[in-house]
Amino acid sequence: MSNSQGSVSSLLDFSGKTALITGVLDENSIAWPIAKRLNDAGARVAISIQRRAVKRLMGNILDQLRDPLLVECDVSQDDAITKMADEVGTAFGHLDFLVHSVAYAPPQSFQGRFIETARGDFAVALDVSAYSLIALTRGVLPLMRDRGGCVLALTYMAAERVVIGYKLMSVAKAALENIIINLAYDLAPHGIRVNGLSPGPISTKAATSIPGFALIHEHFKECTPMQREVTADDVGKTALFLCSPMAANMTGEILHVDGGYNILGMTVKRPEGI
Ligand code: NAD
Repeated sequence: MSNSQGSVSSLLDFSGKTALITGVLDENSIAWPIAKRLNDAGARVAISIQRRAVKRLMGNILDQLRDPLLVECDVSQDDAITKMADEVGTAFGHLDFLVHSVAYAPPQSFQGRFIETARGDFAVALDVSAYSLIALTRGVLPLMRDRGGCVLALTYMAAERVVIGYKLMSVAKAALENIIINLAYDLAPHGIRVNGLSPGPISTKAATSIPGFALIHEHFKECTPMQREVTADDVGKTALFLCSPMAANMTGEILHVDGGYNILGMTVKRPEGI
């Protein structure tokens, strides 16, 4: 079907577009199918890794991308963000999409009771997992301004309600979701949309390092209304939609990609016959 705004296939043609993707650690990373989907749709993609040393974890996956740019950036370092933005600007000249798929909290913050959360751990988790969205977006803004671009950030339902075991990272996600709406408002005059994707549990390096993740994952599989696991590629496809002109008037939204888990008032396994 087509209309005056273009056919669906043309709306998903990202030729001439460029994307900066943070958070690809390995092929299980949620950011990976986002990068792959955008690249398959025609966008040129820059992959930003925390430091060169983690590149070996990626194996040969970058070979699956057409003409990728690999950059290095620890998102807690402003000078690293500036350097990365310069490299992307030099290579691409402009930027249409920024994907924030980065989170970290010190391992000890997942131990013990929430009330024991240490001030220093709080500062680190909020800096890397939430503030970095402001810093990264500001860093690349000169490349994105007035191009109708899109910023996406990966969040989690623990921002909205208690998820056992998620602890300090829940606070970081709540902050991230507030940053999403404030950036959406701030950048709307530049034609830049800012949205969040909130997937259900996916077995990645970051997720499986949370001590309670196996319980969260098992419970999710048992209760989620759609009765199927969330895959990173489910997220990749939704990201493609959000980046496309099909979502041209959507900003400040948090889209759950969780088979409806977040709508449940009673998270129990569906009883027989209901
Ligand atoms: P992942 O381990 O594959 O990715 C996490 C990434 O964060 C890694 O690439 C790591 O290098 C990067 N990172 C950490 N500290 C950094 C720093 N200082 N500078 C630069 N990069 C840094 O795990 P993932 O599950 O794909 O996580 C991606 C995002 O998705 C995170 O924001 C996570 O909270 C979110 N998320 C994950 C799930 C899940 O169940 N896996 C669910 C909802 C949301």
